[in-house]
Amino acid sequence: MNHRLLYGSAAVSAITALAVVYGASHLGSQPANAQTSELTAYDSVNTAKAIAAANWSENVTITINDDDTFTYQSNGMPSHGFAEAYLIPKNVGSMPFSDNTVDEFDVEYSAEYFSETPLDQDITTLPIYIDATTDTSLGQIGVAISGAQIFNDYEDPGRTIAAMDDNIVFHDHVAFVDECNGHTLVNGTNYHYHGIPTCITEALDVEGEHSYMLGVLVDGFPVYANHDTGGEIIGDDALDECSGHFGPTPEFPDGIYHYHLTADDAPYMIDCYHGEVDAETASGGAQNPENGGGPDLSSAAETLGVTEAELLDALGGGGPPDFAAAATALGVSEDAIRAAMPAPPN
Ligand SMILES: [Zn+2]
Ligand SMILES: [Zn+2]
Repeated sequence: MNHRLLYGSAAVSAITALAVVYGASHLGSQPANAQTSELTAYDSVNTAKAIAAANWSENVTITINDDDTFTYQSNGMPSHGFAEAYLIPKNVGSMPFSDNTVDEFDVEYSAEYFSETPLDQDITTLPIYIDATTDTSLGQIGVAISGAQIFNDYEDPGRTIAAMDDNIVFHDHVAFVDECNGHTLVNGTNYHYHGIPTCITEALDVEGEHSYMLGVLVDGFPVYANHDTGGEIIGDDALDECSGHFGPTPEFPDGIYHYHLTADDAPYMIDCYHGEVDAETASGGAQNPENGGGPDLSSAAETLGVTEAELLDALGGGGPPDFAAAATALGVSEDAIRAAMPAPPN
């Protein structure tokens, strides 16, 4: 795999927790992880101490809040560095990209193309396991200790294109997804992972042990690479429908519900949440859709007070949207449409 050279990969070994701020003696008043082995998946575990102690990289600031949340702030860039160049599809609808020829991509050099994505979000420190599951969406599903984001497997809302199976493509030693199973959206922002972020886990995990926490999903439950108790490789068949299970981890020796990213087959990432999560968070937040199927216009339509179908119709099919014509058709200002539209998709 030397053709996908990552630079700066040594940086991850120097990861240090930075600026962990506690809300006034909050932890002292909580029975954090004080329960014993009678814990079941249904008991809530306070994750604040483990979150505070995790190996967040230097570009991440973690603040433990008084309201049973923590705040994750990052510049969105992965601390482990990234490939020198990436294949950026000229037409994001032309998936799967593995079938595409070199002239269907631009080659962009990350030094010039990548840009920071300020992240500032609150995630619960009292995750609640529920029987019902909520599908993960395109866009962000969690945060990683490297400062980058965790996405699910897919590049399309219909879940037919798995990044790791269908979009692994190289032309002249340049890849769409890098050696760390990550890349940005097509506009160079929102670096994210679609598979085990090996640049993190190779530095973090210890042979013969359960993987260490590499991040947290937006429902508050921790996420790990594919080593279970004793360092055994765990695959999808040993996990529930959301690629999770209940058991001890290095940070939660009394047990907690947690997710495992896997390497054997899709889903490599997490297809659903088993924790309570609100609808807005579950929809991928501000980072929303990447490739294919067009952008998610539901929230834009809601903002504009029209139906999604009306908005789609007004924007017209094919080619760049005509905002002026859409504004006239919908009886709103052009600025209102531009403001309501989601960020460019990947
Ligand atoms: Zn992606
Ligand atoms: Zn486990």
